[in-house]
Amino acid sequence: MKDTPLTRRGILSTVASIFDPLGLLAPFTLKGKQILQEVCKEGTDWDEKLSEELRPKWEKWRLDLPKLATITINRCFKPKDFQQRKVEFHHFSDASNSGYGQCSYIRLENDFSEIHCALIMAKARVAPKKVVSIPRLELQAAVLSTKVSTILYQELEYKNSAHYFWTDSKVVLGYVRNEARRFHVYVANRVQRIRDTTNPEQWNYISTNENPADHASRGLGAKDLQTSNWFQGPKLLWKCGNIVENNQKFDVSSNDPEVNQASVLAINSTEENCLLNRVERFSDYKRAVTGVAALKKFIKTRKTKNHYTITSVEDRIEAEKTIIKMVQHKFFKKDIDQLYKQSSKCTGNLAKLDPYIDVDGLLRVGGRLKRATSLDMGVKHPAILPKRSHVTHLIIKHYHEKTAHQGRGFTTNAVRSNGFWIVGISSAVSSHIYKCVQCRKLRGRGKKRIKKVWIVIHMYGIKSHSYRDARRHDNRRLYQRS
Ligand SMILES: [Zn+2]
Repeated sequence: MKDTPLTRRGILSTVASIFDPLGLLAPFTLKGKQILQEVCKEGTDWDEKLSEELRPKWEKWRLDLPKLATITINRCFKPKDFQQRKVEFHHFSDASNSGYGQCSYIRLENDFSEIHCALIMAKARVAPKKVVSIPRLELQAAVLSTKVSTILYQELEYKNSAHYFWTDSKVVLGYVRNEARRFHVYVANRVQRIRDTTNPEQWNYISTNENPADHASRGLGAKDLQTSNWFQGPKLLWKCGNIVENNQKFDVSSNDPEVNQASVLAINSTEENCLLNRVERFSDYKRAVTGVAALKKFIKTRKTKNHYTITSVEDRIEAEKTIIKMVQHKFFKKDIDQLYKQSSKCTGNLAKLDPYIDVDGLLRVGGRLKRATSLDMGVKHPAILPKRSHVTHLIIKHYHEKTAHQGRGFTTNAVRSNGFWIVGISSAVSSHIYKCVQCRKLRGRGKKRIKKVWIVIHMYGIKSHSYRDARRHDNRRLYQRS
């Protein structure tokens, strides 16, 4: 390694030279970053010599650096010949005065109930220079965890595996699980970010001395890194069976400084129901989607000078997701809760669809087409909808009209190829076509013609009392004429 001068520039160069994109050495690099932050705080110039206080700290860390060479990490998460039956991800987060961070582990279980865990990704950051309370930093660390979880979901091929989140902060768990209280902007924004991609049921408590993310918030020397539980994860993960018990309650005290006292009684789920009620007033799916998109856009831009409600394609796609999600939460609440709670299996009525919850929180059909890369996500894993809901009705109506009032087969195909899986679709479509005014008119025309033929037959004195006979006569008359 190059010897760099004992200045701010030299320290930055050394710290930045460690290449660790997955953050596997995060607790170690954090120590270096913390020293750099202290140098910055002192206000020393780029090429000024280091102060006497910081010098020993830096030299100790610098001497530690070559020891990293002795650390080996298996490139494969899985031991040789290990056939996993279940895959889980566990994300831990923590914060201290000097920093905050998170670490994510993969937990594999095989048919013999043997467990294997490995660190797959971690992040450690120094605490901001501005003083921030520990609960706020803990919350920031939790947000970091959800970000890493999203990355892992997208990058790894384990789409149906469960993700769990752990923190030693009961305050944060209270914030995330809270339904009844409103918070100040800082906390509210971060809680919303957490709830956008995770369900409160996924969040669990772990004691501080077991939490491996503690290292990512305080930092470790090279030797301690090897002897700690950093690479293997806490003992808890290595236990057999289900390690998540979700019966603890975490409350936010009304004296919490983050609680907004003015409006304490706003409840999230009623808001959602209220919006769904609004959607149910629409009689056209496209208009309902545009309406929700415009509303969302308005809320987003209401504080800017020129708020506007013209929506883009992306806005409408987002709005469509919101509507589907609301319907699913109303009709499949039990299944969704179960999926979030018990790893990845659903045992309810939807079990045979092998459902899972995607990164946007939509309930989708699982199944065999997982690896078919040529297919669109919506076709491979359509979103599940109930048979009887207003939105389902609107969707069937929309695609029935789009296929120019074709029969059941065409309409069903159009709905499916646009990424919807309606439970009991054929009878739902049939009943819609039966009631469809346009189709009735078309059918009616046929009936009228038959009626006319029937009268003609009577005039000629042919005794026939059924439409079918009348139609037969009608055909025969045509043949005779030609
Ligand atoms: Zn029709």
